[in-house]
Amino acid sequence: AHLDRIERLNPALNAFLLVDAEGALATAANVDEARAAGEDLPRLAGVPVAVKDIACTQGLTTTAGSRMLEHFVPPYDATIVTRLKDARMPILGKTNMDEFAMGSSTEHAAFGPTRNPWDLDRIPGGSGGGSSAAVAAYLAPLAIGSDTGGSIRQPAAVTGSVGVKPTYGGVSRYGVIALASSLDQIGPCARTVTDAALLHEVLGGHDPMDSTSIDAPVPPVLAAASGTRDLTGMKVGVVTEIGGEGYQDGVLARFEEALDHLRALGAQVVEVSCPHFVYAMAAYYLIQPSEASSNLARYDAMRYGARTTPDGDPSAEQVMAASREAAFGEEVKRRIVLGTYALSSGYYDAYYGQAQKVRTLIAGDFEAAFGQVDVLVSPTAPTTAFKIGDKLDDPMAMYLNDIATIPANLAGIPGMSIPSGLAEEDGLPVGVQLLAPAMEDQRLYAVGAALE
Ligand code: GLN
Repeated sequence: AHLDRIERLNPALNAFLLVDAEGALATAANVDEARAAGEDLPRLAGVPVAVKDIACTQGLTTTAGSRMLEHFVPPYDATIVTRLKDARMPILGKTNMDEFAMGSSTEHAAFGPTRNPWDLDRIPGGSGGGSSAAVAAYLAPLAIGSDTGGSIRQPAAVTGSVGVKPTYGGVSRYGVIALASSLDQIGPCARTVTDAALLHEVLGGHDPMDSTSIDAPVPPVLAAASGTRDLTGMKVGVVTEIGGEGYQDGVLARFEEALDHLRALGAQVVEVSCPHFVYAMAAYYLIQPSEASSNLARYDAMRYGARTTPDGDPSAEQVMAASREAAFGEEVKRRIVLGTYALSSGYYDAYYGQAQKVRTLIAGDFEAAFGQVDVLVSPTAPTTAFKIGDKLDDPMAMYLNDIATIPANLAGIPGMSIPSGLAEEDGLPVGVQLLAPAMEDQRLYAVGAALE
């Protein structure tokens, strides 16, 4: 049924870059057979899933949304893909994304933008617009995303779905194409909080192949999502520095409603200040491009990736330059230049080093806040889905989409976006973000399930 729906709707949405009908049907048939034979099967056996094209899939082209990897067929699976296979979940295919996960609209996508199922003239968020659009349009019940500055949560918000960025180190990144290694995190996209919890439990847990993977059990997210809806005794913090100017009226109205809903469920809502959040964007746009410029140095057209050979008798250096010039898009080049500059000799202390200090202050703000409250709540994104093309030529306007999501990545804490109704001015979905201390992911699920 999902494959039929993909065939019918994907030409308009462009949510999937690759559909593996054969592979998905083979896994499904295999599960049917096992079930008929009375075999004990994992909980999600037979439930299809879509994978963002940033995770390596053995034998299936993995592009990261870039011409550089247009023909790259990985020789191995990312750990999360192995876990989906171990869970006997049919993999429907690979979903569209901004090139190397840089963007907030899936317009910086080398193979064309993804469209928002709510309005095809609008963006589905980014960088993981393909995964969220696929889930929102019922092309897949579940999908995988990656979140470096908001790429799971912001697409969830603007497509009316659920998206979770787990605690940094909570889900393995082995075999996931790196954007900014100190920020990247893999997580679930779903239509309900319980569905997200089911997938989170499949993905999470220690992986010796990822040196940043936390050696601890997966937080009890499913139990939390299935628990009581009574929030009596729970303290919820509203961050003074998130919201206000730059936020759409309908977004703020739905947020106020969510606060009323929390109070009605028994929670105590208080205001907390995180004074360094105002510097989060600036710190992120030094740290993220710095790490990206370093990670993307591997695309030298020598070992793998697209190669362009200039005329004559070019040197290796000329081949590298010509290949990177031809295969990288504008936004990727912008960040490589920015990151290389910030890391260059003499500037390191002024930029990258300084940004890292700000990052520590932001983590300190969260620590102080979580000394007073159990979870924090905010709008996920300042606006609903904007029109395709509206912000493409204005990087600052594009970057501002993640103003509320970036602090969690800088601090490594978990975050979730859940749907909270539609903005009256445009009838488009709005998301509310929940944040919790590191390794307390279950708190998001408890409050998220109560609120949804
Ligand atoms: N939009 C942010 C950026 O462009 C976040 C990207 C992400 O989370 N992958 O960096």
